[in-house]
Amino acid sequence: MLSFVRKTIQCLCLMLIASFASAGDETSAQTDYSSHKVLLIGVDGLQYEKLLEAINNGDAPTLARLFAAKSYTGGIVGTFTQQTTYSGPGWATILTGAWIDRHQVHGNDGLLRNKTDSLFKLIKTAAPNRQTASIVSWDTINDNFAEDIHNGYINRALQCHDDDRCVATAVSQLLQSGDSDFIFAHFDEPDVTGHAMGFSPEYQEAIQQVDAYISGLLSALATRPAEEDWLVIVAPDHGRLLPLGQNHGGQTLSEKTTFIALNKPANEQLSQPIVDPMNPGFDGLYGEASQADIAPTVLHHLGIAPNPATYRIDGQPLLGPPGVRQLTVYANNQERRVTLQWRNQSPSGRPITIYRDGKKLVELTDHRAEFVDTELQTIPAGPVDINYVVVMDDVPVARLVRVDLAPL
Ligand SMILES: [Zn+2]
Repeated sequence: MLSFVRKTIQCLCLMLIASFASAGDETSAQTDYSSHKVLLIGVDGLQYEKLLEAINNGDAPTLARLFAAKSYTGGIVGTFTQQTTYSGPGWATILTGAWIDRHQVHGNDGLLRNKTDSLFKLIKTAAPNRQTASIVSWDTINDNFAEDIHNGYINRALQCHDDDRCVATAVSQLLQSGDSDFIFAHFDEPDVTGHAMGFSPEYQEAIQQVDAYISGLLSALATRPAEEDWLVIVAPDHGRLLPLGQNHGGQTLSEKTTFIALNKPANEQLSQPIVDPMNPGFDGLYGEASQADIAPTVLHHLGIAPNPATYRIDGQPLLGPPGVRQLTVYANNQERRVTLQWRNQSPSGRPITIYRDGKKLVELTDHRAEFVDTELQTIPAGPVDINYVVVMDDVPVARLVRVDLAPL
């Protein structure tokens, strides 16, 4: 099965690279980002291995045409990023690029409110004329982002009350009627069927149905003006517990395993997982991309330049340069120091700049893969969060570290 999939991906890449070459240089300063748009499709509870099974059986022909690779959810176990593999935290991470220590959506509760900047807010703040939409089958998602709706960061918000057809119809209409720049479309049926039936023929049928809905959305996209450059991303919020596949929420390899599928060839963060990740847990799963990488990928495609001084996104883009990978930050409270480590694939002397809470700390080159911050005199004793940002190739990656420093 795996070799089949790899072959499919290779064929697809060649086609996409060919079409890319004629589209011109994405990184050129002349890029007109106003024609760049994003359709982010969430499929609740869709297990990667079961998607591959459906693709292998010819039951997911639309998803088979995308570039897909494994990713992880649930944060890093044993750190402040660890979050349950439920839908609330998963969608919050996908829509913010941050883990629970920033978004604070810790469960499936419509009363919870996202506490960090969302894609909707970041897009509307940077480009007020851009039009955003969030059309969800599971209503709780738009409840968790109710402040964005209230503040006008989501131009069109619709709760479809667990009716996937409603989502497909509304999003197709949005695509045909014209002015959306970022659409989040959420389908729920694979998760609902998974809870009721577990891994089963019915679950596979739910995958087949969602593939058909996505096919309809891509047909609507095909009617858009040729000059528009749409990035399409498909991702689930979590995996499922083996062996039955009915439940999820815990920290097992199967529940933590997700995938990200794009209609464009991804960079090494998605296509070349790190084989010896800093944290070797879960059979090397942390060497893959994570669902926090989706939001910065959206911002990259829309041409929204990050401000490193205020940056608070944990993920890194899957298009263009990925920045430093595997950024890991930990504190030694007794000795009042914080250590940052990262991985560089091919060091070549490129500059790296590090910020702490918006203040530029140091400039290094990518021959270095560690920095120890010992200048913490201004940080008071006791528990406090510090935000570090490491910038390489103009791509920032952020980490929050909760310190509890000893008195000076
Ligand atoms: Zn569920």
